[in-house]
Amino acid sequence: MSPGELKLLCVKPAMTLRDALLRMEQVSRGILLVLDSEGVLARTLTDGDLRRAILKGAGDSSLLGGLPLTSPIAVNESADAADVLRLMDAHQIDHLPIVDPGGKPVDVIFRRELSQRIWLSSPHLGNEESEFVAEAFKTNWIAPLGPHVNAFETELASHVGVGYGAAVSSGTAAIHLGLVLLGIKPGDTVFCSSLTFVGSCNPILYCGARPVFIDSEPSTWNMSPIALEQAFEWAKRESRLPACVILVNLYGQSADMDALLPICERYGVPVLEDAAESLGATYKGKASGAFGRVAVYSFNGNKIITTSGGGMLMADDPDLVVRARKLATQAREPAAHYEHIEMGFNYRMSNVLAGIGRGQLRVLKERVVQRRRVFERYQEAFADIPQIQWMPEPEGYHSTRWLTCFTLAGPHANQRCSQVMKALERHLIEARPVWKPMHMQPLFNGAPYFAHKAGQDVSARLFDSGICLPSGSNLSEGEQDRVIDQLRHALTMGRESSLAA
Ligand SMILES: *Cc1c(COP(=O)(O)O)cnc(C)c1O
Repeated sequence: MSPGELKLLCVKPAMTLRDALLRMEQVSRGILLVLDSEGVLARTLTDGDLRRAILKGAGDSSLLGGLPLTSPIAVNESADAADVLRLMDAHQIDHLPIVDPGGKPVDVIFRRELSQRIWLSSPHLGNEESEFVAEAFKTNWIAPLGPHVNAFETELASHVGVGYGAAVSSGTAAIHLGLVLLGIKPGDTVFCSSLTFVGSCNPILYCGARPVFIDSEPSTWNMSPIALEQAFEWAKRESRLPACVILVNLYGQSADMDALLPICERYGVPVLEDAAESLGATYKGKASGAFGRVAVYSFNGNKIITTSGGGMLMADDPDLVVRARKLATQAREPAAHYEHIEMGFNYRMSNVLAGIGRGQLRVLKERVVQRRRVFERYQEAFADIPQIQWMPEPEGYHSTRWLTCFTLAGPHANQRCSQVMKALERHLIEARPVWKPMHMQPLFNGAPYFAHKAGQDVSARLFDSGICLPSGSNLSEGEQDRVIDQLRHALTMGRESSLAA
């Protein structure tokens, strides 16, 4: 509920029944909140209460203060959506005021809102997936490999303009294979962006290698060239140059390849591009995922397109991709009997899921447009609130806005972000903090870390003050409006001193 609307719901005991009826009609929510002279919630008033009072003979001009007092049913700000629903059920009501510790109303939740959760990023099917899947069933090509897998690989490769693809069971599996292809051995050092999802760097551990984390830069939120340069200088001094650099493209946006790739080249270190979150994005006209010696996409359920679960390893070098496909099928040698020389994995994508992927690929362009439109609506809606600072999209970058993210400027950002997310959650709106950087994770305790600048830990600040909003390409305008209203309210909550008008 918007602050303006909440203000209209709040009335004083000195209001006449006539005015209350008019107000009730004006706000058309079926309730009003009667506040005492201190602004504390005295009672909730439903249209039923008003009609009953009039039937019992109360005159139009009698005052709300004269109605029998009922103790208000309300909850405080620590309640979550489940608490709210439980209370509504227990009292058979469809609305519930939220009050601050002083008993002043700060919000009202209506049952209707709680019937439909708004997700951060949910799967969005097109029209053709079921036909591809049906074809797999009809031809009994359910598993293991099959024509959809080959077609999905070729179609995606040509869509992004990278030579070849190997379809696998997840983005994480693709990263693991990529590291194996690049020859990562136990004890090797691997550089990786710190601000990312753990799937980027768990595979470093699978290989028995040691991660070194690199900070973000403020202008892209992706790997800082300054921090990368410093990490290389340190590694050179320590004689432990990395065997590979994992470059992550975050939240649908490419890293600054023109600044980062030459540094890696200078040290002769290959790049694994983690484009799990950036399929569909471009950097200076070239597809995200077309920059690393090896690149990786994910088709997990929350990504821009999905196969329910899956990933693809991409490379221009056909030898690398052929080898990836072999390693992903238990590294089986081409012999009728099962011959094995090296260790392999069971990582291939099934033909059914590849069918979903082919259908999804046909709507990828549309999904990018839709996600960007969601971002633009948020941006327009909050143009008047300078404390909201959107993830930047520098000139030459085309982000998919896979997730719409912002940081809150000003003091106590972390505390305010938690309050905002908690308030949204009460209205069944899923918002999340920006990724917790890997150098702050207990799993990677003791791993070296290079900040953007001395005393300037950018990824830690983004985590501290950042929020991701619901961003799905299937969010209706009504749902976006719900998020916009609730976010606006959550941002101003606790600031309104006196609501009663
Ligand atoms: C999702 C994701 C992965 C892992 O992909 P899965 O398909 O979930 O295994 C890796 N890196 C990043 C940055 C991701 O967002």
